[in-house]
Amino acid sequence: MIARLEEKLQRRQQIGNLRSLQVAENAIDFASNDYLGLARSPQFSERVQQRWASQEAVLNGWGSTGSRCLTGNSRLAEEVEQQIAAFHGAEAALLFNCGYMANVGLLSTVAGEEDIFFFDARVHASMADGIRLSRAKAYPFRHSDLDHLEWRLKRTSCRGTRFIVVESIYSTDGAIAPLPQICDLGLRYGAHVIVDEAHAVGVCGPSGRGLVAEYELEKSVFAWVATFGKALGVHGAAVLGSDRLKQALVNFATPYIYTTAMPGHLLAAISCSYDLLAMLEPERNHVRRLIELCQKAGFQTSHTHIQAVPIQGNDAVKCAAKNLVQAGFDVRPLMSPTVQKGHEVLRICLHAFNTEEELTRLLNAIALGRERIDV
Ligand code: PMP
Repeated sequence: MIARLEEKLQRRQQIGNLRSLQVAENAIDFASNDYLGLARSPQFSERVQQRWASQEAVLNGWGSTGSRCLTGNSRLAEEVEQQIAAFHGAEAALLFNCGYMANVGLLSTVAGEEDIFFFDARVHASMADGIRLSRAKAYPFRHSDLDHLEWRLKRTSCRGTRFIVVESIYSTDGAIAPLPQICDLGLRYGAHVIVDEAHAVGVCGPSGRGLVAEYELEKSVFAWVATFGKALGVHGAAVLGSDRLKQALVNFATPYIYTTAMPGHLLAAISCSYDLLAMLEPERNHVRRLIELCQKAGFQTSHTHIQAVPIQGNDAVKCAAKNLVQAGFDVRPLMSPTVQKGHEVLRICLHAFNTEEELTRLLNAIALGRERIDV
């Protein structure tokens, strides 16, 4: 083994966060991003198969055969982009193979050496990588701290363009970003706002259109990103914004240009998922009831389907998650360095298919475990 990698692995082991792959079987799912239960739904699967059967003859079997700029484009891909743009109230949508690639492609394309990113300290790794690849200057502001963001904006000027980069719902603790106020600051200080809606689309906003739609900010943000591997139950992502931005991404976003396009069966699945979203209000209402149940239990702070229970220390949080798995609940720990040291949490994802009884049992098990830690 290469010595440098060996050293890095050993260091990971020492801080108690050596990642290993696990398969959780027969545990109640409080960990996945399948918030609306579409990924596990036989009815959804059947709809997708029917849609694909009607398209298959005009598309290239199981593979798209090339990048979008070459042979991988199709009428279906363009129709799905129009469907997504119309749903979200955007001028245009551009498909990416996943959210990671969408964020890297978007941020590395819109900015260059003369520009500046102001980013929330907790944005997803894909946004951080996109910022790095752009070679623009970048300044973090404290998590959802508007005063700190304003202080940064006031103090930092540049010859180029300024961007503010946030998530609408943060994946680590379920916190909602103050998007209207962030857009106001963007307007006042001449900065373009970019929002990652990965955890909001499908679950939040009118018909599940996300928080940009909830706050009617479609015209205020420069671009926003929807991903399909979470509440939509499938895979892929889209950047939403202006026609001109789409054209720029088609020309300059390397994660878009230099990869094989999505296959037709995935396009059919994405389209089916978008068709369904408006009808899933009962599922969203059920998730809201589960959120209330968490809040009544007293130790949760989030108002969303992502709840984070603080348990300090990698070993302690790992042990707490292990106990819950043994009790039949699939709950995962978020450890440092994924979260800041000392801010380790058990992340509980709430789903439309979780029953109130299951959640009550989980909350009781967590309360019992915490009492033991406190003692
Ligand atoms: N943004 C956020 C906030 C995420 O949580 C994730 C996935 N964990 C992504 C982007 C990446 O999306 P995808 O899984 O589709 O690559």
